[in-house]
Amino acid sequence: MAHGGDTIFGKIIRKEIPAEVVHETETVLAFRDISPAAPSHILIIPKKPISSVASATQEDKELLGELLLEAAAIARREGLEEDGYRIVTNIGRNGGQTVFHLHLHILGGRPCLWPPG
Ligand code: 5GP
Repeated sequence: MAHGGDTIFGKIIRKEIPAEVVHETETVLAFRDISPAAPSHILIIPKKPISSVASATQEDKELLGELLLEAAAIARREGLEEDGYRIVTNIGRNGGQTVFHLHLHILGGRPCLWPPG
């Protein structure tokens, strides 16, 4: 299946449930994670309901690039660039994905471990 159905993030996009939005364009939305795993934990999602990177197609090429570039710009504005930060996307059960609407986690404000566990 190329594109996912509705999820909690769909409700956030449609403003049916609140979120602390940090950036919004016609195609992407970024908001703070409800359960932050780092001092700064922001999620950036495409408004198009793609389930994960594994479900993205050639048609989504530009959108995927936009997500990464917007994530870097948000991290810069958050003041994370100097010390560094991590961008993560979880895919499926072993990847630890719980919301099946593609999202990048932007994690900063503390050192991240590697390997990530
Ligand atoms: P995943 O585990 O799928 O990679 O990440 C899903 C993320 O979404 C988790 O970090 C979780 O805390 C966050 N999350 C789940 N529900 C909500 C919500 O309703 N609002 C916000 N802001 N974040 C959510």
